[in-house]
Amino acid sequence: MTLTLPAHIHYRDQLLHIEDVALDRLAAEYGTPLFVYSEQSMLDALAAYQRGLAGREHLICYAMKANANLAVLRTLVQAGCGLDIVSGGEMARALAAGVAPAKIIFSGVGKTRQEMRDALGAGIGCFNVESTAELDVLDAVAREMGLRAPVSIRVNPNVDAKTHPYISTGLKDNKFGIAHDDVLRTYQHAAACSGLQVLGIDCHIGSQITETAPYLEAMDRVLDLVESIEAAGVPIHHLDFGGGLGINYQGDTPPAADALWLQLLQRIDARGHGHRKIVIEPGRSLVGNAGVCVTEVVFEKPGAHKNFLIVDAAMNDLPRPAMYQAFHQIVPLRSDLARPAHTWDVVGPVCESGDWLGRDRTLAVQAGDHLAVLSAGAYCMSMASNYNARARAAEVLVHGSQARLVRRRETSADLLQAETGL
Ligand SMILES: *Cc1c(COP(=O)(O)O)cnc(C)c1O
Repeated sequence: MTLTLPAHIHYRDQLLHIEDVALDRLAAEYGTPLFVYSEQSMLDALAAYQRGLAGREHLICYAMKANANLAVLRTLVQAGCGLDIVSGGEMARALAAGVAPAKIIFSGVGKTRQEMRDALGAGIGCFNVESTAELDVLDAVAREMGLRAPVSIRVNPNVDAKTHPYISTGLKDNKFGIAHDDVLRTYQHAAACSGLQVLGIDCHIGSQITETAPYLEAMDRVLDLVESIEAAGVPIHHLDFGGGLGINYQGDTPPAADALWLQLLQRIDARGHGHRKIVIEPGRSLVGNAGVCVTEVVFEKPGAHKNFLIVDAAMNDLPRPAMYQAFHQIVPLRSDLARPAHTWDVVGPVCESGDWLGRDRTLAVQAGDHLAVLSAGAYCMSMASNYNARARAAEVLVHGSQARLVRRRETSADLLQAETGL
């Protein structure tokens, strides 16, 4: 594999930079592990979707579970995004980021009554409902409040997104969405509920999808459903096509967002649905390649069969390798160090064998040097935990030559704060 760095990440004078800021300077100033994000990378990724949907009535709702830092949200919201949320906590964060409530979409299989009340009270744009039980509870909650809840029903198109089983959501045997055969009946039921207002239909077939075909297949299934739902007398306004577009982690070649939407819109138009509002919920593809995690090599631990490079970032900061055997490129911050290259497993200090960040990597570094774990903008900090009583990392947002601390490093005192009753 040849080394290709994500956009806005490059070596200049032998030092790894994000935009115009050298990462070793940020490591010295803020310590490690440290997440650093390129604002321009996020805006460019968003612009590809905006180009793809230009001229259509549309709403791009960033799926904030990918990275919910307020500065990241604010960057995307100011550029025109709505937000896709999956919990009351995310709603509070979305409102704090200044998004218009009408541009919030509430997804997820297990919304509580309190979350429904809060979201109805805030005036969110749509609830993406995933079961009949949820429809009935939402109907009751809305009627109690004298409101009608705007809903879309998440359908399960039963297509194989050809991605990792843990991030595939569009097959009939997983917990998401309403099974294809039950969709019509569920829409008729929703249309008869006086506390609900049916707005649209939605699907989300998985994550890290790198092919166009599963999207086209899902689009055909969704349009088939729209036609039968409308034939049964329930009008559908918007088509919400979820997120899921992949990024390049390891030579992956997902379609560009604008090229993908060119094809999807052709399909929509060819089938006579060109007038519909399009909603999408991209997460990873807006932020994944905008971020890196900078970490320091703590120790070298050569062995008979494996050499371990023990670094100060761990599975609590970067959970994707432990969770899905995911691959992140790992590169040195300085390319001018005259070190011998060895093959290393890059591991963290957490007491789990699953705590590895990369396996069999050829790296010319030694203790005290710094590494950057690439493609760390999505599903890293947002999944970070305090396991092993490790404080979560700091986050920095870079704009050109300016770097701004957007989340300070947690302290041991932060970690003790919520505990009572001693
Ligand atoms: C996670 C999720 C998304 C975003 O997925 P990405 O793969 O990050 O684009 C969008 N919609 C729903 C319902 C999700 O659960």
